[in-house]
Amino acid sequence: MRRTVIAGNWKMYKTIEESIELINGLKPLTSNLKPNVDVIVCPPFTSLAIASSLLKDSSIKLGAQNMSEHDEGAYTGEVSWKMLKSAGCEYVILGHSERRQYFGETNELINLKAKKGLANGLKPIICVGEKLEEREAGVTEQIVSAQIKGVLSGISSDDMKKVIIAYEPVWAIGTGKTATPLQAQQVHMHIRKLVGQLYSWNVAEGLVIQYGGSVKPDNAAELLAQDDIDGALVGGACLKADSFSSIIGSAPAR
Ligand code: PEP
Repeated sequence: MRRTVIAGNWKMYKTIEESIELINGLKPLTSNLKPNVDVIVCPPFTSLAIASSLLKDSSIKLGAQNMSEHDEGAYTGEVSWKMLKSAGCEYVILGHSERRQYFGETNELINLKAKKGLANGLKPIICVGEKLEEREAGVTEQIVSAQIKGVLSGISSDDMKKVIIAYEPVWAIGTGKTATPLQAQQVHMHIRKLVGQLYSWNVAEGLVIQYGGSVKPDNAAELLAQDDIDGALVGGACLKADSFSSIIGSAPAR
């Protein structure tokens, strides 16, 4: 049975002091997780090291929001897998739509980053999702298929056990508009079938596919109850301990 994975993407919010406050608020609220649920927080780079030391005595795991495709070198402003690992990260979000939109990230680049992370012991949370005009044009599945094929190119079946896919319709991110549970379930099922064709049914069945896009305490339970929705990637609602823990609490005990 797949685990339910709830991840919080803090984006460019929280100073070190604010990060300490949020983590200290979250720890007591998440001390009793359901046995099938994993929780990940993804603070900004500057807060990773302190978050890692604060989380040592908790079951919350740590992730970053981006990573360079290079090992090291003259790449001003970039952060490598080695730096993330030494800061205590186990996961890294790759290809978030904001990275695609504002920083020009392509499926090819995201694929390089994913392979680099996997080769070095980081588990990628790889984001895909269509824009509003693509949904309205009825090409959601084609767009998501092309993204999935691009970002997973050359990743082995064995490494797929460490990959999480986050389906995040771009029109639902930070907008307050959520895909209906049925709309989300349809795309999740499509992704799982596609991964089944690209790899095997075994790989597809084991793949954790998160939904992201305005997940809130009041819509999380219905989304997480869908057969192919195995968790959530949460933006805005993860910035407060009570709303994030309430979403975590909505995960069904499977
Ligand atoms: C996100 O940042 O991945 C996200 C889904 O944001 P929000 O929950 O605010 O829509």
